[in-house]
Amino acid sequence: MTRYRLTLLPGDGIGPEITAVARQLLDAVSARHGFALDYDEQPVGGAAIDATGVPLPEATLEACRASDAVLLAAIGGYQYDALPREQRPETGLLALRSGLGLFANLRPVKILSALIDASSLRPEVIRGVDLLVVRELTGGIYFGTPKGRVEADGHVRAFNTMAYSDDEIDRIARVGFELAAQRGGRLCSVDKANVLDVSQLWRDRVEAIHADYPAVELSHMYVDNAAMQLVRDPRQFDVLLTSNLFGDILSDEAAMLTGSIGMLPSASLGSEGPGLFEPVHGSAPDIAGTDKANPLAMVLSAAMLLRIGLHQGAAAADLERAVDRVLEAGYRTGDLAAEGATVLGCQAMGEQLLAVL
Ligand code: NAD
Repeated sequence: MTRYRLTLLPGDGIGPEITAVARQLLDAVSARHGFALDYDEQPVGGAAIDATGVPLPEATLEACRASDAVLLAAIGGYQYDALPREQRPETGLLALRSGLGLFANLRPVKILSALIDASSLRPEVIRGVDLLVVRELTGGIYFGTPKGRVEADGHVRAFNTMAYSDDEIDRIARVGFELAAQRGGRLCSVDKANVLDVSQLWRDRVEAIHADYPAVELSHMYVDNAAMQLVRDPRQFDVLLTSNLFGDILSDEAAMLTGSIGMLPSASLGSEGPGLFEPVHGSAPDIAGTDKANPLAMVLSAAMLLRIGLHQGAAAADLERAVDRVLEAGYRTGDLAAEGATVLGCQAMGEQLLAVL
């Protein structure tokens, strides 16, 4: 029997509650599809600060590196907010991403028909939306140098540098084309090539890499137009490929098409080694320990882990179908509840998912 090694990082706040649900479902679905999962649970974020004094212990990073895929819940809590930056939970997450060399961030946005009324947009605009934002995660203006703040001639000036090299663009473009080829076959690259030199290089390289993926239809869009098109007609998109800064903004905009942060999974991938799969939401300290968390983003992250991280697409589809069916049956966690819904806690939602699996 094929065995995979998963590192589980429950983290803080609602993290342990939603991890427990995901783990039960992973056990059930792996048994059904004839593979086995060995878990290695490790502390990260505030939990790691409490246990070891640092937000990313070396042992946690080593365990992640030695595994086939990593499933992270969320990190952070108010009690850590006053600590120096290098000791904060968020620093552990950034160190984990860079320690695993994760340069590609994937955020799928799919409107489930049962939740169509949760969006702030009209149902006819969002019905059937199924898009994927592919964001470059380790370059661009967040990391470019020089950066800083200077004082001269009685004024203060601050600056950052938006820079990409051809190899950084090529590798993220390949991720975008590969994923488009596995989905609807359309890639829209978003830039600001009418104004920025760095965007012109981005566009040139994306065109060059397109030669290796002739079956994928490539288009380009300026970022300001993309922001508009995402709310005007989001159905036109299959895969959106973009840089770190533009992707940060557009992926949050795209996420909100669904109207519910408790539903959104993500994946971060490197050129080799395990990917990191995690819900988009944070640790929700306001509801931690009250059994009110929505575990569905975590379950959908586990499905991404199965499909992308372990190439177990049929098992992933089972998990996604279970989420659809439970919602269609009218079950909701508090964050999603509308009139007439049956409101369940985190654990009970997990039990319903297991039942329909
Ligand atoms: P958050 O996503 O934790 O919470 C925002 C709101 O959404 C809260 O009202 C919360 O109760 C609700 N919410 C979030 N996820 C939910 C779920 N699964 N089910 C039900 N309700 C849910 O964001 P925040 O409040 O800005 O941050 C809280 C902490 O999380 C901070 O310490 C922050 O740094 C951290 N954070 C971590 C990550 C991560 O681990 N990737 C991401 C964002 C924020």
